Amino acid sequence: MLDKIKSKIVKMFKLGFCIRWVICSYFSLQRKYDWIIYPLAMKSLNRICKRNIGLAYLMELSFRDFVEKNKISDELRKSAESFYNELKCRQMYSQIKSAEELLKELRAECKHQKTFEGNYSWRVGNIQLADICEYCGSLVRYK
Ligand SMILES: [Zn+2]
Repeated sequence: MLDKIKSKIVKMFKLGFCIRWVICSYFSLQRKYDWIIYPLAMKSLNRICKRNIGLAYLMELSFRDFVEKNKISDELRKSAESFYNELKCRQMYSQIKSAEELLKELRAECKHQKTFEGNYSWRVGNIQLADICEYCGSLVRYK
């Protein structure tokens, strides 16, 4: 009799452990999935917002309402803000890089037909009088 009860308790414990393991792995997988999907979702949201700024404001109102109803700790708020700033910095560096590539292409095509006399800095602390292209801003020749 005691053995039967003991084996039932062990079975229930094993079943409980299995259920807990399944639930935990489901949420762990879901968390990983969310982190993979987040950048893709942000790209879609940016595209949607660029097409219609009214939708962006609507989403802002919805998120603001959600945040007000669900209290966020200061630590989580600061963490989210620093993550957002990091993403913004990455985006700006990417824009700078693509703008530099475009400028390089434009300078390669420019005929430098109109110049002005200006100070050209070819190294930190060194300035030299030079002819600079008015259209693309590149150095044409030193004076
Ligand atoms: Zn030029």
